[in-house]
Amino acid sequence: MIEPEVLKLRDEVVQLRRTFHMYPEIEFDLHKTSQIVAEYLESLGLEVKCNVAKTGVVGLLRGAGPGKTIMLRADMDALPLQELNDVPYKSRIDGAMHACGHDGHTAMLLVAAKVLASRKNELCGNVKFVFQPSEERFPPGGALPMIEEGVLENPKVDFAFGIHLWNALPVGTVGVRAGALLAAADEFRIVLKGKGGHGAYPHVCKDPVVVASELVLAMQTLVSRNVDPLESAVVTVGKIHAGTAFNIIPETATLEGTVRTLNEQVRSTIKQRMEQMVRGICDAYGMEFELDYKDGTAVLINDPDLTKVVQKVAEKVVGKDRVVEVPPSMGGEDMSFFLQRVPGVFYLVGSANAEKGLDKPHHSPYYDIDEDALIVGVQMHVSLVTELLKGSC
Ligand SMILES: [Zn+2]
Ligand SMILES: [Zn+2]
Repeated sequence: MIEPEVLKLRDEVVQLRRTFHMYPEIEFDLHKTSQIVAEYLESLGLEVKCNVAKTGVVGLLRGAGPGKTIMLRADMDALPLQELNDVPYKSRIDGAMHACGHDGHTAMLLVAAKVLASRKNELCGNVKFVFQPSEERFPPGGALPMIEEGVLENPKVDFAFGIHLWNALPVGTVGVRAGALLAAADEFRIVLKGKGGHGAYPHVCKDPVVVASELVLAMQTLVSRNVDPLESAVVTVGKIHAGTAFNIIPETATLEGTVRTLNEQVRSTIKQRMEQMVRGICDAYGMEFELDYKDGTAVLINDPDLTKVVQKVAEKVVGKDRVVEVPPSMGGEDMSFFLQRVPGVFYLVGSANAEKGLDKPHHSPYYDIDEDALIVGVQMHVSLVTELLKGSC
């Protein structure tokens, strides 16, 4: 259930979310958003640090005595997308839209900070409220630079939690999963360097188009013939470019794509096999190549014991039958870097309402949420911290 004291803040969390929604900012350019966040946290009496990883904000709430330090993370960035919803709080910024729910994440964490600040005498330990820029744009993302700037230190973070509002789940539900929830999302670029010439005289050329075609098909076996069928992996070539005219064999062809995996071993197998395969095929055709493989987000792994705590808290907040175990997904999230360093949980708060038409997928220009989800998120943050920091100190 939602506590009456929290429920009273429903309008406030909705208003905050709408403000962020109307003025979306992207990547690291979150000047207005971070200003609102910092001023709000300062008004609660928290110790506030601004300009962490450019526009990130960190608020520290010290409880009544010593104890663990819990980090709660919200991402604040929007997407470069034109909103097509016709709502009073529609984006006022051309070409930018909160189409992933990060406006809600920011609003929920602010209001949770307000509730927890009013109860700081009941908490043993600290709560670190981390507002992160640039989750959507990776690399570099906002999490790694925040870690480099010391967000997990002083005081040292013991556990980290984060919420994603989730339109694949109905409002009033919470989705959890122990272990791997989201994928390592890597990026690769292959440039094939052949020898261009006339389309009618292929024997005096080295045709990178033929090699690119063979590579796209061959790379499908990176998953089907190299990865245990009970594991999950994706290799997608999303971009392929070569040539300028129908009768010219081009000098080069470029392939770009993504590799998604849910475990580090599978990840390194694919990476290694891709290199061997590109080298082998290029050798066979006498073609030079460059392979640039960039590691993206890490696999996001939820701590099993803390997942049980989240589950127990969620059962109290939304009811036992409304806590669902969600399957892993091949999407990536840079919350994974925090969870690589400290145990914690990233979990989902249902935000869809099909009857109201609020069930469009994330990143759609028609994305919107049932705002009743916001107060559920606030209560989850509050109850989780209370559960972990209660006691006498
Ligand atoms: Zn997103
Ligand atoms: Zn997101």
